[in-house]
Amino acid sequence: MSSAHPTLSTALLIDGELVAGAGVAEPIFNPATGEVLTRIAEASTEQVEAAIQAAHQAFASWSRTTPQQRSNILLAIADAIHKQADHLAQLEALNCGKPLHLARQDDLVAAIDVFRFFAGAVRCQTGQLAGEYLPGYTSMVRRDPLGVVASIAPWNYPIMMAAWKIAPALAAGNTLVFKPSEHTPLSILALAPALAELLPAGVLNIVCGGGEGVGSHLVSHARVRMVSLTGDIVTGQKILQAASKTLKRTHLELGGKAPVIVCNDADLEAVVQGVRTYGYYNAGQDCTAACRIYAQAGIHDKLVAELGWAVSSLRFASKRDADNEIGPLISTRQRDRVASFVERALSQPHIERVTGAAVHSGAGYYYQPTLLAGCQQRDEIVQREVFGPVVTVTRFDELSQAVEWANDSEYGLASSVWTRDLDKAMQIAARLQYGCTWINSHFMLVSEMPHGGLKRSGYGKDLSSDSLQDYSVVRHIMARHGETLA
Ligand code: NAD
Repeated sequence: MSSAHPTLSTALLIDGELVAGAGVAEPIFNPATGEVLTRIAEASTEQVEAAIQAAHQAFASWSRTTPQQRSNILLAIADAIHKQADHLAQLEALNCGKPLHLARQDDLVAAIDVFRFFAGAVRCQTGQLAGEYLPGYTSMVRRDPLGVVASIAPWNYPIMMAAWKIAPALAAGNTLVFKPSEHTPLSILALAPALAELLPAGVLNIVCGGGEGVGSHLVSHARVRMVSLTGDIVTGQKILQAASKTLKRTHLELGGKAPVIVCNDADLEAVVQGVRTYGYYNAGQDCTAACRIYAQAGIHDKLVAELGWAVSSLRFASKRDADNEIGPLISTRQRDRVASFVERALSQPHIERVTGAAVHSGAGYYYQPTLLAGCQQRDEIVQREVFGPVVTVTRFDELSQAVEWANDSEYGLASSVWTRDLDKAMQIAARLQYGCTWINSHFMLVSEMPHGGLKRSGYGKDLSSDSLQDYSVVRHIMARHGETLA
């Protein structure tokens, strides 16, 4: 490990104690260089058991805290992240290869805001009216926490995904065992000492390890009442199977393949800038990435030409951080997966390489920002999530055709429509089967609005007060009393 690196915390958080993992030590890489940054010992079976037990024991008192008490702690966590934001951004940059300036201005700012949002949201929840729906009885509705939640995160936005999972679950009064991706544990482990100070023992436990070992132990445990996953569709399916044995609640945020419908009357420059940014942000490792363009015949050729030029100007792999707009893929495996998608696509005679389509020759797991034109609806590259810096363009004539193609997908997370005609935009937005549709934009999320999918992109909402509902259960309390006042 080079001395230029910030200090790396490797301890897990179990029952309020920072402890070394007792399982196998796995290497943690810097994807921008391929260098091994450190080794982190996974949680052993006994440690996973202890974390679940600690969360179970802490639930009795944490679930009885007031919204105000929990809110104050969430605000303190937000402040702790804010205080360490530069250090945490450095860790995100090291562990994911993200440009440091982007990790600081995007990931960290968003993570802080999520804790602050839920600190407010939990204090102003609304619901059904109490009343006498049967003479002589008063009914009222409560919203109560579920118990121990196992939260399992992916590697693309480690600290932000941790915030999305931890903040609403704690705010709603649950206790947690959180497992970061085995690739990207550094930022949440760096935050663990502050979390240990701010939260009562056992309320939030952090265990590291792989999906098949630590992950499946968590999701099949009888004491765990809910599993929240952001990850791959196949992982979601495995988790559903495991959860079915004990009928756990599940919250699944899975993959995406966002359609981008560009009408003839769209603002071409805005589309080019939008796709250049939001099709390739985080090297396309984003479930909402603007990766599947449907361009109407009248704008198609100009769009392909200008977008090709714009995409080929994306800056990456520079030694000067401020120059970089995107980073590498997370692993050689992910890079090779992206490369093989593109190879298979280009073996089809109708698909044209506009730009990119090669592994970057220098160090690190970079893949060139790639634009493919001439793609057709049934092509694998149009149907399947690549999760890399690859955008396809498909030509269409009629809007109804574009909407049909956009909806003809296993995925249902995010979509966008680009036109100067608001009537048209609203009509298309109403017909799209996606958790989110942006109009003349893409990618923007805010803490106040729900994020989540339809179809195989999963269900359950992150962000917004909808998420608080997902992490709690509605209960009916009914009191019998007389009808006449004695
Ligand atoms: P992944 O499914 O491989 O891993 C996600 C997490 O699940 C990891 O922590 C992993 O260890 C764990 N896991 C794997 N197998 C498991 C099992 N059998 N039991 C329990 N846990 C298990 O996904 P990834 O490669 O880390 O992330 C990329 C995927 O995440 C993409 O498909 C992407 O679209 C999706 N994603 C979705 C959203 C969203 O909001 N919908 C956001 C980010 C990423």
